[in-house]
This record gives sequence, structure tokens and C-alpha cells, in this order.
Amino acid sequence: MAKVLILGAGISGHTAALIAKRRLGKNHEVEVISPNSNYQWVPSNIWIGVGLMTPKQVKFELAPVYKRLGITYRQAVAISIHPDGDKNVVKPYVTIEYLIGDKKDTQENVEYDYLINATGPKLNFNATEGLGPEKFTDSVCTYQHASRAWENLQICLSKMEKGEKQRLLIGTGHPLATCQGAAFEYSLNIAFEINKRKLNHLAEITWISNEYELGDFGMGGAYVKRGGYITPTKIFAESIFKEYNINWILGAGVSKVEEGLAYYETLDGEYHTKEFDFAMLIPSFAGSGMKAYSKSEEDITSTIFVANGMMKVDADYTPKPYEEWDAADWPSVYKSPLYDNIYAAGIAFAPPHAMSKPMKSKNGTQINPTPPRTGMPSGVIGRIVAENIADKILTGTKDHKHKASMSKMGAACVVSAGYGIRHGQAAVMTVYPIVQDWKKYPKWGRDIGYTVGEIGLAGHWMKLFMHYMFLYKAKAKPFWWMIPE
Ligand SMILES: Cc1cc2nc3c(=O)[nH]c(=O)nc-3n(C[C@H](O)[C@H](O)[C@H](O)COP(=O)(O)OP(=O)(O)OC[C@H]3O[C@@H](n4cnc5c(N)ncnc54)[C@H](O)[C@@H]3O)c2cc1C
Repeated sequence: MAKVLILGAGISGHTAALIAKRRLGKNHEVEVISPNSNYQWVPSNIWIGVGLMTPKQVKFELAPVYKRLGITYRQAVAISIHPDGDKNVVKPYVTIEYLIGDKKDTQENVEYDYLINATGPKLNFNATEGLGPEKFTDSVCTYQHASRAWENLQICLSKMEKGEKQRLLIGTGHPLATCQGAAFEYSLNIAFEINKRKLNHLAEITWISNEYELGDFGMGGAYVKRGGYITPTKIFAESIFKEYNINWILGAGVSKVEEGLAYYETLDGEYHTKEFDFAMLIPSFAGSGMKAYSKSEEDITSTIFVANGMMKVDADYTPKPYEEWDAADWPSVYKSPLYDNIYAAGIAFAPPHAMSKPMKSKNGTQINPTPPRTGMPSGVIGRIVAENIADKILTGTKDHKHKASMSKMGAACVVSAGYGIRHGQAAVMTVYPIVQDWKKYPKWGRDIGYTVGEIGLAGHWMKLFMHYMFLYKAKAKPFWWMIPE
């Protein structure tokens, strides 16, 4: 009997757990370690943040689903990996710490044959002074954060209803933050809700971002086909912001926040401040902070992880100037280069470099988005990692038949821009591939036939449909495996 241990039950880890169990059946064990007892469909947190959904609608308890499927589950956090065991233990293991129950604060070692690190991002609010829900800004990165954001947004709305002007600041809270798409989506939903209440004249909504130009989204922007012509995402995003009455500040690295005041530097080297009554700023992302130890208990963290805690996989990490970045630098099977039985899936893997052009301010501060890994690639990577491990266990192969490089994979992104069966809106963007391939597609960097952008009511229906469809799949209801990632 082989054991597959999965760290993290987010989009990537949960997908991997479901697929691995389906492939491996009762003869092998699949175990999941995750600190949150709930699965959450993160993309719908945006709607919690504007009061249109409740946390209950985006989450469900993992334990009953795992019990039904025969997957072992422990509510705990992984703190270290011991890929060669130690002096007393032959098998590789992960040290976990329990967070609740009788075993709270106790540690335990969990052995594995195959390990999938799918621990996603650590929301690194501490990298920016004053940032985050415990300090002066809000977040929509978790359902708890989004609930708090909605509470604070309601205060703003009620002040506007009394005729008081409010300043809302939405965007990125660190010079190297990613996930611009989520913040963009939140800004549009806020604008839509304000418009619905006929309060636009009292709202000043400002987008603040480390992007060099609008529509970069951390993927170096894109050219999209729209209504028969080709347009850069810069124009696409600018026209949407104009329509929604949102101003923008670009090339901005937020360095500090105080109550009602954000400090930022721009690429021209100038330092500025921006006052706000409500701010939702995405923090920088880091790896989960796990350590790694050799058999002799020497710290080998830096051989397995890169400096920010994300895991090294089969990517080309050789430092290269922007002009030499290559689609082939991106990993395709997400295996550790040092260990044949360790993989990283979703946001937990270290990308070889950014997708957006690196930029420095005149003072030498690096201000550019780091690469996003959205839900679709995270799910696909979780699936192919589980499929390859299942192949190894069931057939003894050493090959990886299933591959999913982000430079060969497309992604669809549905950006909600207002909620409502008759009046809702969403911008639908598909890009192929996610990472530009300038050798294969010298003109546009991507296949223009599959890189499209449209906005309308149909997009809203699609987004709502995806919410229910992906939660159905995550609950492993009948025929769940027929639903793609
Ligand atoms: C507000 C918002 C909106 C978004 N909207 C979209 C969208 O519309 N479309 C889209 O494609 N993408 C969207 N994304 C991105 C998408 O949510 C992520 O790409 C996806 O969640 C990444 O999956 P993951 O499994 O790598 O990480 P996560 O989903 O974050 O899961 C990580 C898991 O690991 C667990 N974990 C953390 N540390 C440890 C540890 N030490 N030990 C064990 N477990 C651990 C966590 O509790 C969690 O269960 C959005 C993101 C945000 C924040």
C-alpha cells in the first residue's frame, strides 16, 4: 500500500486529493493535512465583500466529504518536511502541528510515499507596515476577510447615504504583489453597487497598482480579440474603468499604511500619499514557511524552497534578463528536482520568473506584479500531479505522461463586474497560453484566435454558473469527475 500525502485543501490540493483517491481506490491511502476545516471557493469571496453572498454560500466542511470518499483528513498545519526521514525514521515524513481539539499545539510526524505541497500563498501582510484586516486595510483573500470588508464597506455606504463623500482605494498593497485580477474585480463590484444605490456623485474610487499599465494583470498584459478587432488589455481595462468611474494610480509600490492613509512610491521615484475611508489592498504572497531537514537533521530548506518559501520544481531558475525569458523556462510536471516523490501544485510552486516586465523606480525599488497562478491552472496542476503519482504507484512507471506547463495551457478568467440575473455584468477573458511564447507567437505573444475579451450579462451568468458547478465538483457529488478544472 502506498500513501499520498497532500498538504493543503484549496483549489489545487483538494483537486489532487479527489483525483488521487478516485485513481488509487481502497488499496492505497490518500491523506490531506489542512488548517482550515472548510473548503472555500475563493473566487466568490468577491461577492461576500459586497454583501451579495454569505460565507456559508462559498464554503463547506471538508471532513464529511473526505470521510465519504475514504480520504484521511487531519486539521493541522504542516511545519517541516523530512524527505529522507531522520536518524531514527527510515521513511520520509512531514511534521504537522494540530490547531484545535485535544491535540491542540502538539506535533506529530506523518509518513508518506508521495508528497504534494499545495499550501497556496501565505498572505504576507507583514511585508507592508500597517497592511491587512488586523491593521488599517481590508482584504478579500479569505471568506473571513471578505466578511470584514463588507462590514467596513457598509459603513462607507451609509455615510454616503447621509451625503458624506467617501474615498475608496482598491488594488495592491506591496510593490511586488500579485492577484491584480481579484482586486480589479472587487473594484468593479464596488462601483456597480454604488451606482445601483445612485451614490456615484459621493464616491471617489481609486485603483492603485504596481502594474506599469492598466490591464497588465501580472501576465504582461495581452492582446485580445474583441468584437472583430484586436485590442491590448490596457485599452480594454481603461474603457471598463472609465465606464465604472474609477481613477487609477499605476506603477505604485505601497510601502506603508496608517489609519486612512497609504504611502507609496511610483516608478518615477516620487513618494506620495493617498487618503482613504475604505481600502482593500492585496498583500504580497509568500510560500507557507515550511522548513526542510536532512536525515542528519541539518536545515536544507534553501535546497527545496526558494527564498520566499515557494517550492522549487522542474523549472529553469537560472537568472536571465527579461529579453531572454523563454516559455520553456516554465515547469510542466511540478516535481522537485531533488526528490522523485515530492511535487508542488498551485501557488505553492516557485515560478521561474515574472511574466510582467521587471521595473525599478529611480530609487531602485522593484515595482512590478509577480506572476499570478489563478484557479484554473491551480486545479489543472493539482490534477496532473495526482494523475502522474497514480500512474507511478499503479504501473511502476517513472515517466510523467501528464504535463501542464503554463506556457502551453490556456485559461479563462471571468471577472465579475456587477451582480444580478438581469443587470449583472462580467468581463470574460481567455488567454492561450497563459505565459507568453514569443518564439511561437512572435506577433502577439499568444494565439490571438483563443485570446479574447468581452463584457456583458452572459459573463455574469457564466460566473454564477461556475460558482455552483465548482462547488458541486468540490463536494464530489455524482459524476464530479466529468467537470473540468
Ligand atoms: C479574492 C480572490 C478572487 C479570485 N478570483 C479568481 C477567479 O475569478 N478566477 C480564478 O481562476 N482565480 C481566482 N483567484 C485565484 C485563485 O483563488 C487561486 O489561484 C487558487 O485559490 C490557488 O489555489 P491553491 O490550491 O494553490 O491555493 P489555495 O486555494 O489558497 O489553497 C491553499 C491551501 O493550503 C492550506 N495551507 C496553507 N498553509 C498550509 C500548511 N502549512 N500546511 C497545510 N495546509 C496549508 C490552506 O489552508 C488552503 O487550504 C482569486 C483569488 C482571490 C484571493
